[in-house]
This record gives sequence, structure tokens and C-alpha cells, in this order.
Amino acid sequence: MLTPTQLIYQAYQNTPKPLPLPNGKEVEWPIPEMGEVPDELCWLCGGATHGQGRMSKDVIRKTFTNTPFARAIESESLCTGCGWILAQRHIRNWSLLVVDGKLEHPTRQRIREVLLAPPETYPWMLSIAVSGQKHISFPGRVVFSPRNIWVLLEQIPIQLPASGIGHVLAPVEELLTAGFTKTEVQTGVYRQDRIRTAGLAWWKEREKRIAAMRGSQMFELAVYVAQVQEREEEASCSMDSTRTTKTQQQPHSASTQSIGAGTPSGSKSPRTSGELSKEQSAQRQRERQPSLFG
Ligand SMILES: [Zn+2]
Repeated sequence: MLTPTQLIYQAYQNTPKPLPLPNGKEVEWPIPEMGEVPDELCWLCGGATHGQGRMSKDVIRKTFTNTPFARAIESESLCTGCGWILAQRHIRNWSLLVVDGKLEHPTRQRIREVLLAPPETYPWMLSIAVSGQKHISFPGRVVFSPRNIWVLLEQIPIQLPASGIGHVLAPVEELLTAGFTKTEVQTGVYRQDRIRTAGLAWWKEREKRIAAMRGSQMFELAVYVAQVQEREEEASCSMDSTRTTKTQQQPHSASTQSIGAGTPSGSKSPRTSGELSKEQSAQRQRERQPSLFG
């Protein structure tokens, strides 16, 4: 059974190159030297090494703070998947999607599509990068069946129904489209004048649908991918019609404020080249706000 890193590595090998980033830029994918390793299991992902990979002492530095994710701590070997992943310096900056054996760095629009209609071919996996500072590959979850669907948001695993998150996303997007802010939808504290404008009954009906889910991880996920619909009628007719709306072509580097809570704290690895500074992340967040909230 493939672990997340093994699935990503296999998909990378099967994906036509170049494999551009969501912003259209190309990036270097180093090929680390693999060799024979003595341990049956991989220290990091716990998967089978088949005798090939890299020694963990050659790869894992003292500054590596993701040790709590290690699955086979008695091992001194890394499998080829983990050995390869840890050599890809850019990979934390971008979300990861494996579907039909191919690797993608999905845009937020693409992530939204997957969450609305989870793939029905297995295995697949989705790990969503929020800060761009944390490893999301080996903490991810491979989906092997519709009965057990998990996606990763930053380093938090979230279980989804096989039917997707449309039941949460629809009222969230309707409220955003009606002019409420993401903060209002997240907190449940709304401005009275906006409620009057939207109509009390209309607002109440949608707020009732999301009130019970507020604070749940699936709700955070819905708010994260929610888009303001260009025309409200389209949103209520068909989710498919929204696929033509503007795609967010920026990296998933900016964080929604509440997502950080509950994230393992031991993952403040030093920033590697090509990663965004906090200032840049904040700048991108500011740039994105107008397009999100109209
Ligand atoms: Zn591994």
C-alpha cells in the first residue's frame, strides 16, 4: 500500500513535464541520489523501502522539526518517495493533488472542484497548503475508498463525505456573494445593515444551515475555498456553472486567521529558498481580498 510520499513520487514520475506551478512558472525538481538501504520500513512514512532509498542521517538535519510525524522510528532509512520529497525545496509552498496517477499543484479553484465532487478513482490525495511554510506531503492522507475520505488542510486532516462539501459551501458562498464578509460568516457576527439589505428571512435561512457547522474543520475548509459567485442565480442553479468564474492563480500562501489553531507547533522549519516571507504572504492576502469579497 502506497504512503502519501510514495504516491506523490510515483505520480510525479507519471506526470508529463514540465509540471508548472499554478502561477505558470516552472520550477526545478532535483533528482537526489538513491542507494541501497538496510531497513524494511521507511523512518518517515512507515512504508516499504524495498531496500532502496536514502539514509535518514544524510537527509534529516537537526533542524527538522517534523519528527513527530515519523512512523517507523527504529528505522534509519528513508524510502525513495520520502528521499525524493525532502529534496524538493519548493514543494511546501504549493498544494498537492494526485488524481488518476498524475501530480498537480492545484489552484484554489481546482481544489474547490475536488471538494465539491471528490474523485471516484482511487487512490487519490489532496493536501492544501495554507501558510506555505509547513510540510503537507508526508502528513497527508491517501484516499483508497469513498468510505474513508480525508484531505489535509495545512497539517490538519479533515474527513469529508463522499458527496463532498457542497452542503456547507453553498450557503457560505451565497452569503459572501450577498456582500457579507468572510469574517462575518466565520464568526456568526453580522452587520445589521447587511442583513437588512440581504433580507432577514433570506439571511436567516442560510445562517441556520451553517450555524451548526461553524468552527468545524470542514466549515473552515469551505470558507477557505469559497468564492464570490459572479451571478447569484448561477450559484443556486448549478455548482458546475461556477467553474467558469475567475481562477485564483496565486499560491496558497496566505492563511485564514482561524486555521492555525490546533496545528502541530513543532514545524517551524527554516525557510528554504523560493518560499514566501510573511510580508509577501500578507501582501498577497491583501491583494486577494478585493477579488474575494468584491
Ligand atoms: Zn517514506
